[in-house]
Amino acid sequence: MCIFCKIVKGEIPNQTILEDEDFLAFNDINPSRKIHVLIIPKEHYDSFDVIPPKIMANMTEFIHKVASKLDIRKSGYRLITNIGNDGGQEVAHLHFHLLGGEEVGRLVR
Ligand code: AMP
Repeated sequence: MCIFCKIVKGEIPNQTILEDEDFLAFNDINPSRKIHVLIIPKEHYDSFDVIPPKIMANMTEFIHKVASKLDIRKSGYRLITNIGNDGGQEVAHLHFHLLGGEEVGRLVR
């Protein structure tokens, strides 16, 4: 079982920001910005590349709720999902990184 499935099952602790029946948002263990939250579907999908579009639509709604709860919709935020080896994905369970709480800077260096 993957590490994020263990978090969903409560076998590994997490700092939950928001949860519903299908999705979970929790703090990244190694934050790279003031706000660094991971948002996952509770059901296992290896990456964004294989998530059914209908579930992604619900996930979009959930991500909006997380951003509202963190009060960063006006100030802005960055949403990233890494996909596969070349995308730099380390945990093979779809997750979005939500970064904010400060200016996160330019993507292109
Ligand atoms: P990625 O490189 O996109 O697969 O990102 C994986 C992310 O998961 C990294 O930012 C890690 O810091 C984070 N991470 C790994 N294990 C945990 C954990 N137990 N709780 C919270 N975040 C984690």
